[in-house]
Parts: sequence; C-alpha cells; structure tokens
Amino acid sequence: MDDIFWKAGYLSLFIIWLCVQVYYGKQSAVNKVKEKVRPGFESFLVGLHFIGMTIPLVAVFTPFLDSFAIPLPEPVRFVFLIIFALNIWLFLLAHRDLGMNWSAILEIKEGHHLVRTGIYRHIRHPMYTHFWIWVIAQGIVLANALVLVFGTAAWGILYFFRVPKEEEMLIAEFGEEYRNYMNVTGRVIPKF
Ligand code: SAH
Repeated sequence: MDDIFWKAGYLSLFIIWLCVQVYYGKQSAVNKVKEKVRPGFESFLVGLHFIGMTIPLVAVFTPFLDSFAIPLPEPVRFVFLIIFALNIWLFLLAHRDLGMNWSAILEIKEGHHLVRTGIYRHIRHPMYTHFWIWVIAQGIVLANALVLVFGTAAWGILYFFRVPKEEEMLIAEFGEEYRNYMNVTGRVIPKF
C-alpha cells in the first residue's frame, strides 16, 4: 500500500477526533470551575502530550521524520488503523457520559457529580484507555519509531503523574462514594 494511504487514513481519523474534542470541549467549558489542582504542572503535562499527539502531523506533512521509519508488515498497520478508528468511538462514549464534568486539567466544576454510568460503570478512566491505544496505534499506523516512542512517553508521563492525583482529588470531593466506586471498577481495564 502506498504511503499516502496510511497518511490519509491517519489524518482523516485525526480530524474526526478533533471534531469530537472541540464539540464536547466547548460544551463543558461553559461549566464554572470550583477548584483546580496544581494547574501549572497539569498544563505542562497536557502541553507535552499535545506535542506527542501532533508530532505525527510532522511525519505526515514533511520528510523530516522519514529516517525514523520502521518496516512494519502492512496487515499489522491495517489492524491498527481499524483499532485507531474504533478507539474514536471509545472517546465519544467517554465524553458523552462524562458530559459537563470533563476538563483538560484536573478540576472540580460547580455542580460536579460522580459519573458511574455508561462506559464509567466498569472502568474509571476510559479516556485514558483511549489515549494509551491512540499513542501506540498512531506510531504503528504511520510506522514511525519517533512518533511511537515520543507519543507513548509523553502520554505515559501525563498518565503516571495524573491518575494518583486525580483519584486523590475525587476522593477528597466524593469521599466514600468514590472509594466504593474504586472497589468495583478497573483503572484503564474494565473490571466485571
Ligand atoms: N479520568 C477520566 C476523565 C478524564 S477528564 C477518564 O479517563 O475518562 C478529567 C476530569 O474528569 C477530572 O478533572 C475529574 O474532575 C473528572 N472526572 C474523572 N472521573 C470522573 C467521574 N467518574 N465522574 C465525574 N468526573 C470525573
């Protein structure tokens, strides 16, 4: 398959993803913030992850990253392209269920309520599951080592710093209710 196929496939899915993010991001932005947790550091982590999410665009539009190309079998890339597409569905479900409680950095909103339904019934961080799948899939679809390693590392740093703090914040806000919720759900892998 020609290189343009993988680049166009990646790019179309990235644009669909961006539309989902902008649509839900705008909705939840009107919700007033009650509390922010270490906003400076969280913004730095989000910025780093943003670079990891946009570095593939350099691989798509310029030849600068061509030397990082890895010879992956086409069937493998194709399977990951399908996974990449299905993964947007997971993002959409998480946004739909989290609704006005969503935020890019750690925040408690006015009237914040604990979501335990829909995709959140068995898993506490479906959006973070989505991003793990994303950073691996983007590197494999584009068959580029730099995209794969940088994207995964940038996301991994955000994930490992954020999750303990996010859960601490939600315990402080929702107390026993969140502790009970933790007992019956998985972090990024569903628990049934
Ligand atoms: N970690 C979640 C949400 C990511 S958005 C996921 O991966 O799907 C981050 C914001 O979501 C945090 O600021 C937190 O306030 C909020 N949040 C996380 N889990 C929540 C839940 N179960 N109910 C309501 N808000 C939640």
